[in-house]
Amino acid sequence: MSTGYYSGLIDRYRSVLPLAEDSRAISLCEGNTPLVLCKNLEQANQKEIKMYLKYEGLNPTGSFKDRGMTVAVTQAVYEGSRAIICASTGNTSASAAAYAARAGIKAFVLIPEGNIAMGKLAQAMMHGAIILQIRGNFDDGMRLVKEVAENAPVNIVNSINPYRLQGQKTAAYEIVEELGCAPDFHCIPVGNAGNISAYWMGYSEIAAKASAHAPETATTSGLEARPRMLGYQAAGAAPFIAGKPIENPETVATAIRIGHPQSWDLAQRAVEESKGWFHAFSDEQILAAQMLLTAREGIFCEPASATSVAGALHDIEHDNIPGGSTVVCTLTGHGLKDPDIAIRQSSAELVTIDAELKSVKDAILKNL
Ligand SMILES: *Cc1c(COP(=O)(O)O)cnc(C)c1O
Repeated sequence: MSTGYYSGLIDRYRSVLPLAEDSRAISLCEGNTPLVLCKNLEQANQKEIKMYLKYEGLNPTGSFKDRGMTVAVTQAVYEGSRAIICASTGNTSASAAAYAARAGIKAFVLIPEGNIAMGKLAQAMMHGAIILQIRGNFDDGMRLVKEVAENAPVNIVNSINPYRLQGQKTAAYEIVEELGCAPDFHCIPVGNAGNISAYWMGYSEIAAKASAHAPETATTSGLEARPRMLGYQAAGAAPFIAGKPIENPETVATAIRIGHPQSWDLAQRAVEESKGWFHAFSDEQILAAQMLLTAREGIFCEPASATSVAGALHDIEHDNIPGGSTVVCTLTGHGLKDPDIAIRQSSAELVTIDAELKSVKDAILKNL
């Protein structure tokens, strides 16, 4: 009997996931995230552009990583694994720690010392991961994880694990189900480049199935169309703009502070096949977009996520995205992940007053 209870993306999308039928889903009811239509961004409104935000910060651990992690950990447990390992800029470690706790296995996480947002560190600590802070960056951690996994009985759950991208592709399925077709443009921040590759895989599967089912003479259902993929990077961590890996990536958006993207070829192909493009934005532009979303749309995402909106607004202003288009921006992680950056960049004044009615009234009248 169908009760309408949503039990996670494996139960929802098992038919398109490469999992054994008898594998037990390790799930926290991830996925099924809102697709929020922007109402107050003049840049989009003036050109009759429908701009949607795929609010992935509302996944169980606050980022899209949960989509990949549920599938990767389900498969690891199915294979009898008792430990998982990852290198992380923060969100992968938070997600791995939570799903390992759920599964009753161990999580080892390598994080760059001093460059991980507080919320993410708190999650890894609370869920009982074994945290190895390395004196190096994400790329160093990634190299070490690949080396150690060759000799130790641990499953890598970084996005080089193919089950991660399989899980993450379900976001594209959700978007097409909600809109009735693919958007014209899909805007997404690019760090290790797994997520842009996963969306492209999802959109491509849907389109291929629709084409196979459509009789040649019939009018198309619209499901055969795929969006142009727009991959946005931080200017200080933009290997796809440089056309080669870079050595010392720097950006306030720590989730995309990556110089050696592991899914280079897949991401390159997604952008080329879709006739999309890469572009990079300064930390100032990224933080301005984050502030715009919180102040104007009521949506709080972390800095890396705002890169997709910084990019969309830039490409709308420069008519690279034409008027009348439908655009989806993935907001990869929740703003509460990184309270330090938020408080540092906010200009909000904290008004201290006496605990008496007159002071409160005066403060209200002054600010109305
Ligand atoms: C992981 C992450 C990214 C980058 O995704 P990739 O698949 O590595 O390109 C962007 N934003 C947030 C919040 C993330 O956690």
